[in-house]
Amino acid sequence: MVLAIDYDQTFSDYPEQFTKVREMFQAIGAEVYLVTARDEETERIDPKHNAILSGFDKIIYTSGKAKAGFVRADIFIDDSPVTLCCDFVQGQPHATPSKALHQGYKNKHILWNWEEDRFVSYIKKPFNAKQKED
Ligand SMILES: [Mg+2]
Repeated sequence: MVLAIDYDQTFSDYPEQFTKVREMFQAIGAEVYLVTARDEETERIDPKHNAILSGFDKIIYTSGKAKAGFVRADIFIDDSPVTLCCDFVQGQPHATPSKALHQGYKNKHILWNWEEDRFVSYIKKPFNAKQKED
């Protein structure tokens, strides 16, 4: 199980709370990643935060690329969900839709896409919900 937590305006705003979340998920065997759209060379997270970030299993910089294209996660926690499926440039007013992203993960197939000016996500997985009877 992978949990991916955004940095800016997510972890950075609630570091103590998300550290507890990280620890709780790691305690059940999950891997917890910090995922940021920042560029690792030009927008690196201030090293003064290294101690609190050292507990993450991975720290991933996407350089503005759609996060779901870089990270396969069961759950994303992000203040800006559009950055999961869309390329993003700091200072630009809009994220740009990325190519369709297909995630094959465990027994799920997830398609993230931008269609007809809206974000869509298709998840195909076995559901145990009761089938509606006609
Ligand atoms: Mg953010």
